Parts: sequence; C-alpha cells; structure tokens
Amino acid sequence: MVSRVIPVEEFDLVIFGGTGDLARRKILPGLFRRFLSGQMPDGARIIGAARSDIDSDGYRQMIREAIAEFGGDEASQTDCIERFLAQLYYIPVDAKGDGGWNELHDLIRFEVINAFYFSVAPSLFGDLAERLHTFNIADDSSRVVVEKPFGRDLATAKALNATLAQHFDEGQIYRIDHYLGKETVQNLMAVRFGNVLFEPLWNNHYVDHIQITVAETVGVGGRGAYYDQSGAMRDMVQNHLMQLLCLIAMEAPSVFDADAVRDEKLKVIRALQAIEPHHIVRGQYGATDSASSYRDDAENPKSHTESFIALRCEIANWRWAGVPFYLRTGKKLKARTSEIAVVFKDLGHSIFPGDEKRHRNILTIQLQPNEGMQLQVTIKEPGPGGMRLIDVPLDMTFADALGPDGDDVPDAYERLIMDVIRGNQTLFMRGDEVEAAWAWTDPLIEGWKARGDVPKVYDQGSAGPENAMTLLGREGRRWREIKE
Ligand code: NAP
Repeated sequence: MVSRVIPVEEFDLVIFGGTGDLARRKILPGLFRRFLSGQMPDGARIIGAARSDIDSDGYRQMIREAIAEFGGDEASQTDCIERFLAQLYYIPVDAKGDGGWNELHDLIRFEVINAFYFSVAPSLFGDLAERLHTFNIADDSSRVVVEKPFGRDLATAKALNATLAQHFDEGQIYRIDHYLGKETVQNLMAVRFGNVLFEPLWNNHYVDHIQITVAETVGVGGRGAYYDQSGAMRDMVQNHLMQLLCLIAMEAPSVFDADAVRDEKLKVIRALQAIEPHHIVRGQYGATDSASSYRDDAENPKSHTESFIALRCEIANWRWAGVPFYLRTGKKLKARTSEIAVVFKDLGHSIFPGDEKRHRNILTIQLQPNEGMQLQVTIKEPGPGGMRLIDVPLDMTFADALGPDGDDVPDAYERLIMDVIRGNQTLFMRGDEVEAAWAWTDPLIEGWKARGDVPKVYDQGSAGPENAMTLLGREGRRWREIKE
C-alpha cells in the first residue's frame, strides 16, 4: 500500500514557548517527521519565540539536541536534520513586554499562511493575543493554536474563551487535544460512519455498555505540584475521555466538516446526566518499598486530589438511554493502555445444547500502545465433540493491516499541526464544547469536595482501588483487564 503524503501550503509557524518542554519533546520532533515525509514545503518556516536570549543558530542547536533526544529512529538522519534546521528561526520575545515584537513583525511573511502556536502557560494567552494585534502581526487570516489545560473550571474556561475572542474569531482558534489526532480516534468515525455493519447496532437495543480506559504506568513524577491542583478528572476526563465518549456516542453528522462534527459532539456532552456520588470512585496510589506514594510525589501529605478516577455515566437521548458508559483513568496502574470497548448484548437464548456461556461480541478500539481494532466473535471450537463455542478475536492491528506504511502514520501532534496549516478544525475542540464539558465536570468536583470525599489508596501496578470493581460488579459486569 502506498501512503499519500499531500504537501501543505507554504507557511510561517511561530511557536511561542519554542524553548519549552512541549516544543522540544513533541512539536519540533513532530515537525521534523513531517519534513522527512515530504509534507513540509521548502519555503515553510518555523519561528521559535520565547524570552531566552539566543539567536537562530543557538535555537537550531537546541532543536538539534531535542531531535537527538526525542526524535526516535529519525534522529539518525543527520543530513536531513540540518536541512530541516535551516528552516528554523528564533526571535527573543517577552509576552508581557514590548521587546522582540517589531523584529517578529519584520520576519514574518504575510503572503503565506501564518499560524501562532501558544505553547506557554494559559496565563500568557491574553498577552500574546493582544500584542499580536498591537504590533500588526495577526489579522483575520491568522490561526492560533492553544494547548491544554483549557481552563480549570467553567469560569476560567469562559474567561480564556472571552480573552481569545477579543482578538480572534472562533474559526481562527485551534484548541489542541492530542487524543483527537490519533489515527484510531479518527478511525472511530470511519468505522462507524463508513460501514453498514456497525451503525445499525450502535444503540441501546444492541449495546450492553461501553468502557473507556486510559491507564498509565507512570506517576505524576516531577509534575506533582502542578498535578495536585488538577487531578485525573480535570487532567484527563474533562478533555480526553470526554472527547472519546463524544465520538463513540454522537449521531452521524450530515457531512464530515468541522462544525457539523463539533455540533454533534456538543449534543452528547449536553445530554450527559448528572452522576450520583456512588457512581464515582477516586483513588490515589500508595507507596511501595522502592517508590513514593501520590502524596509524596505531590508534596502534599494531606492531598485529596485523585490520581485515579472511575465513573459511570449515562447519556439521556433515544439512542443511548439506559446504556452505562464506564470511564476510568489513572496513574501507576498495571499497564499503559488506552482502549474503548463496545460490549454488545448477549443473544438471550442459545440454540446450542450445553452452551451456557453468555457470549458477547465486543468491539475494542485500542489507542495505545498499538493502534488497532479487534472484534470478539463467537465460533465453533475446532475438532470433534459437537458444537462447543468459543470467543475469538478478529484482529486488525493497523501496523499489520497496513503493512510497512502502517508505521509511517503521523503521530497526533504532527497531524494536528498539519491540520492547522490546512485550516481544518474538525479535530480541534470548539469553545462551546470545552465550556459544556466543564459545566458537566464542575458540579461533580464540587460535590465530592462538599462531601469531604477522600480518595481510596490503591496499590501501584494494580487496576486501581477495589471499589472501582464494584462500580460494574454490582450491575453484573466486569472491567476489562488492563493489559498492553
Ligand atoms: P515549559 O517547559 O515551562 O515552557 C514554557 C515556555 O514558555 C518556555 O519556552 C518559556 O521560555 C516560555 N515563556 C515563559 N514565559 C514567557 C514570556 N513571558 N514570554 C515569552 N515566552 C515565555 O512548559 P511546557 O511544558 O512546554 O508547556 C507549554 C504549554 O503546553 C503549557 O500550557 C502546558 O500546560 C501545555 N502542555 C504541555 C505538555 C507537555 O508535555 N509539556 C503537554 C500538554 C500541554 P523562556 O523561559 O525562554 O521565556
């Protein structure tokens, strides 16, 4: 199979925070991979901007080292790295001051696509947006990319949206949730809306329940102090898990375009029911002989912030009424995996004598570590001895199914940045979506605070606290095993 790489138009991409962790670890190595794939035109330029007092050569050296460290296999292509670095520039700019802005204005070519990536703390978004206009750098054709976290509650998200809206139209704003850039996530829409097979079954007549799991093996590491202000609900559920839920549950848009897709996602968020307290389980990882506990990492011995959350929610509409959606995410769990499992109802009656097991079809969509899909089907166990039935997986790991080109799938950041250059907002969150997600999340957080809820301690390397099991167990269901 030959993968088609369609070059984008010429652009100047300014990365505010170009010296930061995200830029060095993800954005620049990702752009280098797009360069290698032939997607970046020769005339495209990437301009790093931050306060650090370095010049373009100093910046190229910084990114040379970043690619060596974070660039994976591609880091060995030294000739190509040098050609890529020749397309990089740097301007020292202070988001809160006037220094550097005139120089930035003089460097930018206004006849090509201009995109401004705000890879800085959200508290600087307003300063950047304002100066981009004061110094006549941005106009109504510019695009701005903003990073998560997009607010920490409804009030802060509204304030951020209002700040950006003073300077940019919604059609210019690209709020990144890198989960949406994953190939499998987009495939969710292709599978649902590009096949006749699934959509007729995609409702409360045939689906028993849906599980969404995002499990990490790492703890909060050096981000403890930051994470403690956030927790799994704000850090993962409000954005990533919610977006996955939307794509699984939304109605078919009439056409695959940005606003049609986002309108449908918004309807799902607005149809989410409030959750009863006993349908939320929060946890914190404990210590082991050799590893610190969550509270140690967070440097807060009394922290009530959750490093794990599991919850059961329902969507109040005709398609999904009565179907539970179980969501869970956590740190220091037994394996690193992200998957969505659509568990179909059993047949209710078996025509095969002696077959007592309740066989179920399960469609599993794996987002990481290996992107792919699996459909559990029931077949006859081979050999004599009558009709004994077994459940087997029909496996479609993309890397296998697509051959060598399957490995060349752009990673989420790469794809999303190229979408910005193309002007395609489909995989970016709209302001009203973000606000609706916070409007659903806020009362849950306020609720457990008001109740004085204390997260349960769970073992590192486990599947989370025991009572996360009962969330499904009391309804006669089971979480899928957390495994890679
Ligand atoms: P970081 O490592 O602290 O980098 C911050 C960047 O902002 C640096 O380049 C810094 O450079 C620049 N900066 C700070 N103050 C500035 C000012 N007044 N004017 C101009 N530039 C300024 O942060 P990060 O981890 O890269 O994160 C950047 C954003 O991405 C944050 O919103 C974060 O929440 C989000 N994010 C990060 C990750 C990640 O994996 N790192 C993941 C998801 C989202 P100077 O000090 O040289 O000015």
